[in-house]
Amino acid sequence: MFEEFSPAKLLGSRCHECEVFFDIESVFYCPQFTVKYRGVPGAGLHIAKNKFGDHTLLSWNWPTLARQWLPTIDHPSDKATSEFLVTAPAKYQVVANGLLQEELDLGDGLGMTPWKRSVPIASWLNNIGAAQFAARHFGTAAGVALQTWAFPRDRDNGIFTFEEPTRPAIEFFTSHIGPYPYEKLADVQVAVMGGAMEHASAIFFGERGVTNRPAFGLLAHEISQQWFGDSVTEKDWNDAWLSEGFATYFASLASEFHAGPRCFCRRHAAFAHQHPRHGTFFFSALSSLFSASLR
Ligand SMILES: [Zn+2]
Repeated sequence: MFEEFSPAKLLGSRCHECEVFFDIESVFYCPQFTVKYRGVPGAGLHIAKNKFGDHTLLSWNWPTLARQWLPTIDHPSDKATSEFLVTAPAKYQVVANGLLQEELDLGDGLGMTPWKRSVPIASWLNNIGAAQFAARHFGTAAGVALQTWAFPRDRDNGIFTFEEPTRPAIEFFTSHIGPYPYEKLADVQVAVMGGAMEHASAIFFGERGVTNRPAFGLLAHEISQQWFGDSVTEKDWNDAWLSEGFATYFASLASEFHAGPRCFCRRHAAFAHQHPRHGTFFFSALSSLFSASLR
């Protein structure tokens, strides 16, 4: 039985109704909480039109925005399993980390999509995307189920950009690093954001990067971070350079494996040209990160 413990404000000033329930019986053993809240997150979870003018929803938690919409310990060292049960208009498809469970038709034009994460992940790696997608399952590589989620009018571009690089990258990393750590790998096109984000088992790619050419370097970088950055996680944000450094190096190794040694040399000559004084990789996003308050 759950008893009301105290109201709490979890989504800042834009939260309209938040409640926390505390299981008194279990306080001395394994405390359990039920947190009920509603509102419009100021950050972390975005409702945005894509480049075709269609409504979409996406999360983008990096580095410390999960706390804006998820009641969680928002720190890279604290990992947990979880499940999202997402209710949305039935015309939208929902993608997230983990494994898709049975989808339900709730009637009245609504559907419920459950995605379950059985492998613990850090808070910022949790993600959801909802849109009208052209979703494709394109088989397996090294036993890993592969998926592409592109906007319908970018369906063919999604195949070009994602599918050709994903298969050899997965095969390379599983043979050189170890077994793939998650339930599946989905490459997902999202609105508004640029670049890409290595969310565990559901990588988000900015919509403008989905073209009629394979993006091998970008895909290899993000896929390598399933191992370095997602599975092997920095203890604190000061160590983020390790996951980016490993990803940069392993993406170059995968490019060498895929396209020959000249490709490796070209990539690193380009890095040296960008930062000739120190020959190191510069990660601009961290400059603001170090001043962020973490709890
Ligand atoms: Zn990266």
